[in-house]
Amino acid sequence: MTVGYLFDLDETLVVYDPERAGIFRDACRRAGVEPTDDAAEALGPGYVETFAAFEESPYVGAARAAREAGLEIDPERFAETYVEAELAATHAPEGLGELLASLERVGVVTNGYGPVQRRKLAVTGLADHVDAVVCADDVEAFKPADAPFDAVTDAVPADDYVVVGDNVDYDVRPASDRGYRTVFVGDGDGGPADHSVPEPAAIPTAPPFRQDD
Ligand SMILES: [Mg+2]
Repeated sequence: MTVGYLFDLDETLVVYDPERAGIFRDACRRAGVEPTDDAAEALGPGYVETFAAFEESPYVGAARAAREAGLEIDPERFAETYVEAELAATHAPEGLGELLASLERVGVVTNGYGPVQRRKLAVTGLADHVDAVVCADDVEAFKPADAPFDAVTDAVPADDYVVVGDNVDYDVRPASDRGYRTVFVGDGDGGPADHSVPEPAAIPTAPPFRQDD
């Protein structure tokens, strides 16, 4: 029986150091502007609102919201700077590259923005071990919708799947509803997850990877 291993990306295969607030401060430093709390708070809603329309980069929408909140930046240029800062902060925990390399069928299914998510996989070296990547903008839908899961399972054919992710609502529950085995990553309640690990670095210790199945 063939098994496909499907991973979420953010806070599952990759982690951030610094985290979001530090990435924003680094982007401001790179852009030569002073970060403000108002601009920092505007980023998230601007990103989400823009992404939901699937018309342009959500990073540009986030930057535009920051400008509207008083940050003196060019949104297009600041979006690029922010992405550079985010990529500089992106790390794959030790052992995850080796884990992916050891698996025959690997997919990544993420609610992030494709052009940036693919760069994260490239800069961490994980891309070499991934057979297919499905991002929200590829299918114009976000997990827990069926479309991202349909697309990734089409791209990574297998008899059975194991889904690994840090979000119960977006990763674990929809995968469980589809009859897949699940691994929750995090120290909270994993809901219906079959297995839980406390952090991304511990993913290789989860039973689906320890057993020879
Ligand atoms: Mg995640």
